[in-house]
Amino acid sequence: MNATASFGKVWLVGAGPGDPDLLTLRAARLIMGARIVVHDGLVDPRILAMAPSSAQMISVAKQRSRHSMPQDEINALLVREALAGREVLRLKGGDPFIFGRGGEEAEACIAAGVAVEVVPGISAAVGAGAAALLPLTHRDAASVVSFVSGQCKAGPDGGLTDQNWAGLAGVGRTLVIYMGLATAAQIAEKLIGDGLAPDTPLAVVENATRPDMRVLHAPLAGLADLVSSAKVQSPALIIIGAVTSRAPSELRAIALEVAK
Ligand code: SAH
Repeated sequence: MNATASFGKVWLVGAGPGDPDLLTLRAARLIMGARIVVHDGLVDPRILAMAPSSAQMISVAKQRSRHSMPQDEINALLVREALAGREVLRLKGGDPFIFGRGGEEAEACIAAGVAVEVVPGISAAVGAGAAALLPLTHRDAASVVSFVSGQCKAGPDGGLTDQNWAGLAGVGRTLVIYMGLATAAQIAEKLIGDGLAPDTPLAVVENATRPDMRVLHAPLAGLADLVSSAKVQSPALIIIGAVTSRAPSELRAIALEVAK
């Protein structure tokens, strides 16, 4: 198969963390003109509603232990539709290339000779930082920020043993953990075992940028208790480091002062 085999195309588009106003103009334009949309469960319903009513909407929603469509089948679906001459809008939460398997989908398209274009989106960490008034970097608190997945591809415990956590959190660092709810207890234990202070501050941001957003605070040693007592639900991020102890009220006061 060669690169000119079809006139179809796959657009890998980031839908951002939820709030439709956080879509890029390009993403909004593509959604409003879409004929076929292949989307994840994380894409906000208000964004899906922007597609024309005539558009074919295909959900390939994934949950941690229950894949409604295996990744191979998603890749095959995208390739098949594009080779049939369609412009496929593959809509993903956040950014397609941050823990979104966008890389795998782009590779499958390229291998099949299908044109692919990526439209970046606001990743959950960036959206959560803004919405919760938690700067991910701050000259007084952190000059390094890491995005880490709480789950990896292989391993019976979700791959935690494969993840090298050493040095990701600590003084001057912010660690943002995606998909970390189910393994929160092990993550905290591992980080403390690696030498991180049990009283290191953290925030859990649930439903960032959505009307039902919650921002919860705890010391690292209290992470598992917080997740269970507050019944934190997916999607949520765990943000660890000194930036999370800068009280939002303090930041708001500074913002108001600056705006004067
Ligand atoms: N590509 C996405 C991440 C997909 S992995 C991005 O760039 O944001 C899915 C994980 O992202 C969820 O388990 C959760 O940890 C995080 N996430 C996505 N949307 C979120 C939201 N609105 N609030 C908090 N976390 C979110």
